[in-house]
Amino acid sequence: MNSVIASYGCNSRDNDIRYESSSGGIFSVLAEYYLKNGGVVYGTAMSEDCKEAVYRRVDQIADLSCLRGSKYLQSKIGDTFRQVLDDLQCGVQVMFSGCPCQINGLKLFLGKEYENLFCMDIICHGVPSPELWKRYAEYFETKNHAVLKKVNFRSKKHSWNDFGLMHDSDMKQWFSPNKENPYMQMFLKNYVLRPSCYECGSKSYRTADISIGDFWGVENVLPELNDYKGTSLVLIRSEKGANIFEGIKGQIIYASCEYEQAVKRNSAEYQSAVRPVQRDDFFIDMRKLSFARLERKYLGSPIKRKVKKIAKRIIGVMNSQTLFDSM
Ligand SMILES: Cc1cc2nc3c(=O)[nH]c(=O)nc-3n(C[C@H](O)[C@H](O)[C@H](O)COP(=O)(O)OP(=O)(O)OC[C@H]3O[C@@H](n4cnc5c(N)ncnc54)[C@H](O)[C@@H]3O)c2cc1C
Ligand code: SF4
Repeated sequence: MNSVIASYGCNSRDNDIRYESSSGGIFSVLAEYYLKNGGVVYGTAMSEDCKEAVYRRVDQIADLSCLRGSKYLQSKIGDTFRQVLDDLQCGVQVMFSGCPCQINGLKLFLGKEYENLFCMDIICHGVPSPELWKRYAEYFETKNHAVLKKVNFRSKKHSWNDFGLMHDSDMKQWFSPNKENPYMQMFLKNYVLRPSCYECGSKSYRTADISIGDFWGVENVLPELNDYKGTSLVLIRSEKGANIFEGIKGQIIYASCEYEQAVKRNSAEYQSAVRPVQRDDFFIDMRKLSFARLERKYLGSPIKRKVKKIAKRIIGVMNSQTLFDSM
């Protein structure tokens, strides 16, 4: 197991890359470093019809954008481990990225360490069921008479962590704040995670060289890095990881901190998500109810949710007005 030897907050110097990435864009910086040196990068992309998350092998920078950004559903491995083995045996420099359990799975498959393999994992809250995503995507298309062409689970158009964004065939755009999007709400309430995610063995047994995540609380720990555009958390777990981090330092703005500070607001690094009591019923209902009925049953009526939100906003404004009047 690789334990943490250094912790950093990092932002890519390239603002366009940061805009397209979930947090500070550190994945793209690491991937470009590999691609510029003739290596290949494995990671998760959405399928062409946006109904699945799938592993893809990228060997040029022009194709890297499909791997950028978090896809909040379990990604399909297919024959990726076999492709990685072929690359490694041919002497290709390989960067493999994924959830900690996917890295552990690859290492088990390979059966031995390879000098030309670099593994990067993400701090992982857990992955939602691909079946639920497919059902939501189909429901969305029917409801909006649209054909999905692109999905962005972490759009930065309005803030750095609030909106999902979807395009249809005419490249029309929808924004759906996380707080209102039913799929994201089901994910954040932990109804939809894979069974293993509630008892994740890979949190205490990490074999990646570098782990990356969102630096929640960066404004308190490393305020000099905070510009509200998202900052990545980087945990170095091996000497190989430390050498690669040396190689990318010119492309990033970074600062180091204590591990305890770095993960203070990120319990997913060391703790599994809590399994809600409704989880088993949710999965039974997911297979027999329409998405709209599933949403009503587990999240309440969308109209009532909207009214409640508006009421909360009005009460907030009234409270601040009262405070202002009493001054
Ligand atoms: C399901 C999921 C849960 C997460 N939970 C947390 C969390 O609790 N705390 C936290 O700090 N960070 C979490 N992250 C990671 C975080 O969202 C960012 O990916 C991370 O901050 C890196 O951002 P970036 O800007 O450097 O690069 P980005 O470009 O945003 O990162 C892309 C990387 O994520 C990988 N990736 C995307 N989707 C998947 C997927 N479905 N399965 C496997 N790999 C994927 C890509 O292959 C690529 O390596 C989670 C990510 C996912 C996909
Ligand atoms: S929480 Fe654990 S088991 Fe679930 S996807 Fe993440 S690493 Fe894998």
